[in-house]
Amino acid sequence: MIRLKSESEIDKMRVAARLVSRTLGEVSKYIEPGIETGKLDILAEEFIRKHNARPAFKGYGDRSNPFPATLCISVNDEVVHGIPGSRVLNEGDIVSVDCGIEKDGYFGDHAYTFICGDTTDEIKHLLKTSLESLYKGIEQAVHGNKTGDIGFAVQHHCEKERFGVVRDLVGHGIGRDLHEDPAVPNYGKQGRGHRLRSGMGLAIEPMITMGSWKIKTDPDGWTIRTYDGSMAAHFEHDVIVREGEAEILSTFDYIAELSKNQIQTQYHG
Ligand code: MG
Ligand code: MG
Repeated sequence: MIRLKSESEIDKMRVAARLVSRTLGEVSKYIEPGIETGKLDILAEEFIRKHNARPAFKGYGDRSNPFPATLCISVNDEVVHGIPGSRVLNEGDIVSVDCGIEKDGYFGDHAYTFICGDTTDEIKHLLKTSLESLYKGIEQAVHGNKTGDIGFAVQHHCEKERFGVVRDLVGHGIGRDLHEDPAVPNYGKQGRGHRLRSGMGLAIEPMITMGSWKIKTDPDGWTIRTYDGSMAAHFEHDVIVREGEAEILSTFDYIAELSKNQIQTQYHG
């Protein structure tokens, strides 16, 4: 079932999304060679709780193996759902940080892939293309379009650069729950899928690789990595479907302000 949001609900979603954005900005200040990913996670949890919100990923999932942390931190060939811990970041790592929160009953969920120090032009091209594809997808998140229009836009932009588009994991509706209907694949055909209507909340999140789109799960039951070991990028925004142009609730402005490790595109920064 797809729940359309009222303007007062959207106001609350905007507050939640902005707090995620500020958390990612805060975390971004500390991403540098030598830092432990677990340290970033502690910083994020403190920041979220200080702002009277709850980390939404912590405890998420099956009771036998709930996600143990505030952030998903996925490094290099890890695509998503990496568990922060004693891993130390190295020069040249690419670091996807995904954060979800609940505030006043509404959820925010978004992600950015940072460079730790500096990296190769090839990897920078992966990150730039992936970030651009997020905005290409968002351009299609308008009333009357379908989810396939979003997926097609993301897929087309990335595959023309010969990057892989992960298929087994997809974007989703968001609002009163972290994950709502509809599914928002990053691949697809124009004019196919769920019809988009004004007031739908969507988390659009391309997961893009330098190789194959195939993935595998680590024995920890969470960490998803590329099957072929290729590098992977992940960017996510929360948007509201509107007539003519989607409203982006989350923002990378705090990252642009605070981080040295950002990718420059025509879309932001
Ligand atoms: Mg998401
Ligand atoms: Mg996310």
